[in-house]
Amino acid sequence: MMATTHALVGVALATAVARVAPEFTVVAIAGAVLGSVFPDFDLYADHRKRLHFPVYYSILAVPLIGIALAAPGPASVAAALFVVGAALHSLMDALGGGLELEPWRGTSERAVYDHFRGRWVPPRRWIRYDGAPEDAAFAALLGLPALAVHESPVREFVAGAVAISASYALVRKPLARVWRRTVALVPDAARPYVPARFTEATEAEPDRDGEVASAD
Ligand SMILES: [Zn+2]
Repeated sequence: MMATTHALVGVALATAVARVAPEFTVVAIAGAVLGSVFPDFDLYADHRKRLHFPVYYSILAVPLIGIALAAPGPASVAAALFVVGAALHSLMDALGGGLELEPWRGTSERAVYDHFRGRWVPPRRWIRYDGAPEDAAFAALLGLPALAVHESPVREFVAGAVAISASYALVRKPLARVWRRTVALVPDAARPYVPARFTEATEAEPDRDGEVASAD
């Protein structure tokens, strides 16, 4: 799923909380959105493993939700929603595509790493890949409650995230081709600094432009 889809999951989550505790609307949105995008800060190092914890975030969320309910305040509400957002992100990554440069090919069986069991969770591909049309549609659907409930600047944030999602979906496949060609030009000395999933893609099938074009 796209980062914007994850962010909009956070907005939807915070919107639900704001309905019952409107005094925490701002901290709920801040905590939930930050937590919902936080795992992807590992994008360039052990992506979907280093900061993705589908089991541990979920376990940690239980006492934090309890604290937020028992002693509601800006810090407890933000902390609980941050971890719930990170948990949902890590769990939802398993519903998308695999960890590969061109995930619509369906060649990777790694969706998200389960540190508890010490293995990769395979991709369900309910949303076939990040930036798929259904990903953009899901993002728009998630944004609807927030657009109906919130005012500026949340409305603008949501509308912007939905617009970015749609734009990214349009360029997702051409962008991957540009990435692959760019990585192919990286000198050997600099390749250790390129994420492995990118170099793996170029090394495994270095010359398949025609195939990619017909696959689209
Ligand atoms: Zn992720």
